[in-house]
Amino acid sequence: MQRLRRRTPQEFDCVLSSMCTVPHPAAHDEAVRFLSSNPGDPATYQTIAKLEDEAVELLGEITDLDEPYGYITSGGTEANIQAVHAARNLAETDSPNLVAPESGHFSLTKAAEMLGVELRTVPVDDDYRADLEALEAAVDSDTVVVVGVAGTTEYGRVDPIAAMTDIAHDAGARMHVDASWGGFILPFTEYEWSFADAPIDSMAIDPHKFGQAPVPAGGLLARDRATVDALAVDTPYLETTSQATLTGTRSGAGVAGALAAMESLWSAGYRQQYRDQQANAEYLASELQARGIETVEPTLPLVAAELAPGTFESLREVDWRISRTASGELRVVCMPHVTREGLESFVSDLDRIRS
Ligand SMILES: *Cc1c(COP(=O)(O)O)cnc(C)c1O
Repeated sequence: MQRLRRRTPQEFDCVLSSMCTVPHPAAHDEAVRFLSSNPGDPATYQTIAKLEDEAVELLGEITDLDEPYGYITSGGTEANIQAVHAARNLAETDSPNLVAPESGHFSLTKAAEMLGVELRTVPVDDDYRADLEALEAAVDSDTVVVVGVAGTTEYGRVDPIAAMTDIAHDAGARMHVDASWGGFILPFTEYEWSFADAPIDSMAIDPHKFGQAPVPAGGLLARDRATVDALAVDTPYLETTSQATLTGTRSGAGVAGALAAMESLWSAGYRQQYRDQQANAEYLASELQARGIETVEPTLPLVAAELAPGTFESLREVDWRISRTASGELRVVCMPHVTREGLESFVSDLDRIRS
């Protein structure tokens, strides 16, 4: 009797709403090979532990940090939570707060809630970037960390990281950069976002987004060892003495997949991918604008546009996987699996629906 039914995973052809993508073939293979290794127990699984060190080294190279501390997380959510966690543990206040722009990712809400840290959000300016005056007014001596976003989830904007770092450090707070989505494309832009661009303290950067690693693979990076030490707890039944991760047992697939993807694509592959997808985003934006549709300029490969009522739903009905910003605009993320032909067929469906 055959009990196992073979199910087919969803194709990526119509997926325009995802921040994840098809893994690089080498990353896929390596992930499968290390599926049963547990980097959470590095004294037992020494090979994957060594690969994790190499992955962190490479992430350091990508983010311009010579001596990176950190680990491969389950994603940007865990990296953000742990950055806030470390900042709280290192600070001396009894009523800690965290300050972030309203464009910050919802994982900061989770972090604040779990860690007993007050979340203060500040408005963004006309170009969807953190408003510095509002930030200045929101920080105080109880601020443990300021979070800036390098590649926002809704509009792909990069906050003024260097100026935010000054404000954070003047207030005695740490500076965390959330480059979960943008980290693998920003090295090819003029933006200031990296460890070399400003004295930031920590960063979230996700190999499982533009890095083309299989899920789950995020990255937490820190400039100093104190950040990781502030997260470490004793581990009585393991041969290693402490653990800084939020999860215990982890899949070796994330670590091995992330390393293989980065080894295959850094830096020429990622550069090409950035150029292709930025060109795709500009193509889509100009097609939409040519039809009189109000479109937010794509400064990174992410397009937001104002569709007439009902159009969004009609596109979903013909199977386009698209999403909306908080204010209801269409949001298209040009990830590595998005092709020009795919976007052309999206535009022709749009024309059919609007006619
Ligand atoms: C995707 C994303 C996150 C969350 O990352 P997960 O990998 O989904 O946990 C956090 N911040 C930003 C800016 C993101 O784009």
